[in-house]
This record gives sequence, C-alpha cells and structure tokens, in this order.
Amino acid sequence: MTEDLSFKNRVVVITGAGGGLGRVYALEFAKRGANVVVNDLGGSLGGQGHNARAADVVVAEIKDRFKIEAAANYDSVTDNAAGIVQTAIDRFGRVDVIINNAGILRDSSFAKMQDAAFESVVDVHLNGAYKLSKAAWPYFRRQNFGRVVNTCSPAGLYGNFGQANYSAAKMGLVGFSETLAKEGYKNNINVNCIVPLARSRMTESIIPPHILKNLAPEKIAPMVLYLCHESTKVTNSIFELAAGFYSQIRWERSSGQIFNPSPESFTAEAILDKWSSIVDYTDKPFNKVSHPIQLSDYNALIAKARQL
Ligand code: NAD
Repeated sequence: MTEDLSFKNRVVVITGAGGGLGRVYALEFAKRGANVVVNDLGGSLGGQGHNARAADVVVAEIKDRFKIEAAANYDSVTDNAAGIVQTAIDRFGRVDVIINNAGILRDSSFAKMQDAAFESVVDVHLNGAYKLSKAAWPYFRRQNFGRVVNTCSPAGLYGNFGQANYSAAKMGLVGFSETLAKEGYKNNINVNCIVPLARSRMTESIIPPHILKNLAPEKIAPMVLYLCHESTKVTNSIFELAAGFYSQIRWERSSGQIFNPSPESFTAEAILDKWSSIVDYTDKPFNKVSHPIQLSDYNALIAKARQL
C-alpha cells in the first residue's frame, strides 16, 4: 500500500473555495491535516456582489467534519490578494500551497463583447493569480518550498465560442505558470496547471445532465492534492482532468523545413512550395518532431536557474 500523502502542518490557500471545485479541494486538504484559508468573494457567476456566507459555510464544514482549524477570507483576488496571504500568516504562521481557482464568466460572442466583460474576466483569472502568487512568492523562496496550482480550461487551450475573454485569461495562465515553474525550480517551488471539466455552477447550464452526472468535482481533487504534496517533484506541467480521466498535455513542434540560408530563398513563394513540409508531424532524417519546454530536461533548467 502506498504511503498516505499527508498535509499535516501545511498551510493551503485556495481562492474561490466557497463552492464548486475550490470547496472540494479545501475539504480534501483539511481531511489530510492541512490548515486551509478558504477565500471566496461570494459573488455571482458574473462576479457581481459579495457575501461572506460562501467561505463561512466551507470553514464550518471543515471544522465540523475534520476537527481542524480553517480560516475564512472574503477578499477579491483582484483587490487584495496580499490580504489573502496575510490571513494565512496571521492565522497559521506560514503559507505552503496556493491554488488559484477563483473565477467568473462573462460570455458573449467576440463581435458583441464589451471591454468590461473582457477586462473583468482577465482581471479575476489572470491578474488575480498573478497577485496572489506575487504575495506568496517571498515566503516560498525563504522557506525553500512552495506549491502552486493554476486553473486553466479547455477553452484556454483549444478556444471556445463566446469565451474570447476567458480563453485569453486561461491561456495566459499557462505561460505565466511555465515561467514561474522555471524561476521557482531552484527554490523547490513547483508550479503546474490543471485543465478541469467538472460539475459546478459554471457548467450546469451548458452541459447536459446525463454528462454532468459523471463530472463530480471530487474527481479533479486527487491530482490537485498530488501536485501539491512535498514529495511530488512534478512542475511546469499541464494536466487535463475530467470524469476520472487524467492526462498530461504537451507542446509538439513539427519536424519543419530548413530553408536554404541565402536571402533570396526566404520568400513567401518558398513558404508556399514547402508548406506541407513545414507542418509535417513525422520525423525527417535530420529533423525530428520535438516537444519543447519539457521540464524533463532538468539539467538544462538547473544550469539556467543558477545563472539568475
Ligand atoms: P464556481 O463558480 O463554483 O467557483 C468559482 C468561485 O470563485 C466562486 O465560489 C466565486 O464566488 C469565486 N470568485 C469569483 N470571483 C472571485 C474573486 N474576485 N475573488 C475571490 N473569489 C472569487 O466554478 P468552478 O467550476 O468551481 O470553477 C473553479 C475554477 O475552475 C475557475 O477558475 C474556473 O474557470 C475553472 N474551470 C472550471 C471548469 C468546470 O468544468 N467547472 C472547467 C475549466 C475551468
């Protein structure tokens, strides 16, 4: 039997943990001994309003079920992310894990999308994750330990009708995570992205009930906990998770086409001639299909990190 992955003496901050996926993560971390800061603004799906009840109910549930301390925080990730980390420090003296999970939706076709809808969605998902990570980073560096999980989406990786704002924010989080993973590596700070699909108020009006019934948020939580454990070395990775299916996403570069180095060969016509070779995903004798930015190349990463 594999050893239990305990989070005893660890302090976990989860944004948007008053419902949906974040609530399930909070309960799972607490069950395994973590002190959790349950952050939630308690607003509507579109981000309007606020209510302390969402976070309070989850904190009460944690205390009742697991007899362990948890703290509620009602700040918006956009307005006072530093205050969320401060809650962890004030109540539990440290911060070990942050889960950037808070999110809103303001869907509309791109043709009709208002600036406010674009900006507010980017603000919560991307800027909120930036601000919380920025506030936790000095603690992580000092203690040589930190775990960050950022929440991406299929809409970010693949695009989705009506979600230009959300897709931009979510894909922005991928690039953000990949850079933090590289910068955090030498301090044992792991940064990963998850791409979940789960039943919540975000999906209940768009996914049919017979599919929703298989999408319990409890099926996402195990990977989040695994990625945040002190024994887990995984970083700079993207995991797609739905209905109990777990997989990793990676980039793939075609074998491509090398052009003759003479300037006259760099023409639009040359591209036209060689197009099928540029987009060819089969190995060629001198050029192989490759998977850039894989952190399995740890040696190169360590060398780079030491120069910073
Ligand atoms: P949800 O609406 O139940 O949870 C989001 C929570 O974030 C809410 O409780 C909300 O009050 C809180 N929140 C919103 N704005 C906030 C702010 N400014 N500050 C603090 N809290 C705020 O939806 P969910 O499905 O549990 O979503 C959780 C995360 O997972 C989101 O980032 C979402 O984009 C992402 N996601 C969900 C799915 C899915 O299938 N459910 C798919 C892809 C990505």
